[in-house]
Amino acid sequence: MLSTMQDVPLTIGRILAHGATFHGRSTVATWNGEKAVASSFAEVGARAAQLANALRDELGVTGDQRVATLMWNNTEHQEAYLAVPSMGAVLHTLNLRLPPQQLAFIINHAADHTIIANCTVLPLLAPLLPQLNPTLRHIVVVGEGDLAPLDGFSGGVHRYEELIAGRSTDFPHPAELDERTAGALCYTSGTTGDPKGVAYSHRSMYLHSMQVLSAESFGLTSADKVLPVVPMFHVNAWGIPYAAFMAGTSLLMPDRFLQPQPLAAMITAEHPTFSAAVPTIWTGLLDELDAHPGTYDTSSMSRVVIGGSACPPALMKAFEDRYGINVIHAWGMTETSPLGSVSHPPAGLGPEETWRYRLTQGRFPASVEPRLIGPDGTALPHDGESAGELEVRGPWIAAAYFGGDGRPAEQGEKFSEDGWLRTGDVGTISSDGFLTLTDRAKDVIKSGGEWISSVELENQLMAHPDVLEAAVVAVPDEKWGERPLATVVLRPGTGTGLAELRAFLAERVAHWQLPERWSIVESVPKTSVGKFDKKVIRKSYAEGELDVTTLRKGE
Ligand code: AMP
Repeated sequence: MLSTMQDVPLTIGRILAHGATFHGRSTVATWNGEKAVASSFAEVGARAAQLANALRDELGVTGDQRVATLMWNNTEHQEAYLAVPSMGAVLHTLNLRLPPQQLAFIINHAADHTIIANCTVLPLLAPLLPQLNPTLRHIVVVGEGDLAPLDGFSGGVHRYEELIAGRSTDFPHPAELDERTAGALCYTSGTTGDPKGVAYSHRSMYLHSMQVLSAESFGLTSADKVLPVVPMFHVNAWGIPYAAFMAGTSLLMPDRFLQPQPLAAMITAEHPTFSAAVPTIWTGLLDELDAHPGTYDTSSMSRVVIGGSACPPALMKAFEDRYGINVIHAWGMTETSPLGSVSHPPAGLGPEETWRYRLTQGRFPASVEPRLIGPDGTALPHDGESAGELEVRGPWIAAAYFGGDGRPAEQGEKFSEDGWLRTGDVGTISSDGFLTLTDRAKDVIKSGGEWISSVELENQLMAHPDVLEAAVVAVPDEKWGERPLATVVLRPGTGTGLAELRAFLAERVAHWQLPERWSIVESVPKTSVGKFDKKVIRKSYAEGELDVTTLRKGE
């Protein structure tokens, strides 16, 4: 029997129209270094329409051509987010922290037709121009600065404001948009090999936005003001820009002011209620707040989502105890749009049990179906103990990578024969659906017959009050195959020695897990999205660039 329900396509255009009208007074504000400059959702919607008209009429964007953004989180980026998919084209968010050759590869692979770029990033874009294919026809520059860096570009160069000025504010909706067509394209950060593109459909982004809004996920409402520190080029800022337009949630965009001091200043001045970022951002912010008691006011911020890599428990507890901020731990990846699991503890538990749940990577929503696969390829029980590789499937999980010719690429080893995404993450799932990740498969330390979780060692080390950051990697060892190397950043002015750190760790982990190799470093190298870059640490060790101290039992 067929249903009797209407078959309305789930499209970004619907979200745009809804937000710009029914939540027209909500705001998108961008921090300019001193203050936030706000536009209403109604204005952003009108300007998104003007942008779409300009892209179509002036620059000739048709069909599903790619319009890329090379931008910080700001109001114009939000306008592009809404305009490009709604007109039927594909929004391609470029990660402005990628190495230049990867960026050029991605722009060519996606066959970007137009790039919208912030003026402040032109020095990054200009040197790439000779490597870019002629498929790139236009560059649209946001901001007042000098356009001279683009002099060598053979296509059109336009100023954003001039381009959209005077255009119609009626949105040029395409006649009919299939909800399964691509609306946005995002490449993985490519830690190994070339970056791979994930093409999100209108349907997947629409459903994902609804899940982001759910109280069991981020729980955003029209009463919230969100500070998305997570870049809009890192998996669509975790879905926040679209979810915000769906719920009328105001946005406070940090633009390029992502250092701890300006973040603390903008929180104090603009009173956001919610924020989201990777752990390294929060470690820096916590340090800034602690170092300047009484200077900042974070009382408006009731909750923050931390994800992208494992959130150190000490960080969660510090924000809760010292600043009353509820840290919500979440897991996801580019291939999962990214919302995969979010940690809201079940009700009615004592404080200790509640914390046990909060520290996990969280519970899967109904639309993300998980399974754990053991080393022999069989599915493992969800008993909270059996550890295996996590595989997932669902309506906002990738089924393939983008092939560059508009068709999905070869399935590769990331997708199982029966259509599940292999995440490369190793962990357990409890009977009530909570995921605990022990490590990424490629970061687990295989010492003799045993596996050591690098994340567990890092979490314990970062619980030491004098440790700012700690990253642990596997290094080759003649006797054991691999052993952990701990690299540690100490809080400035502290006199803690490595022997003391080792003793601290010895009280918290099994003795055979204790690293023998230690190195105090000035900072832990970070990836383009702010995660610990373990590949770089392993390479520095292999090339003898680290000052390593060996500490054994009794030393
Ligand atoms: P990306 O696609 O760059 O966002 O990277 C996704 C990967 O980040 C995942 O496969 C995990 O290895 C890691 N990751 C994301 N969130 C978490 C988390 N909460 N805990 C541990 N690892 C995480």
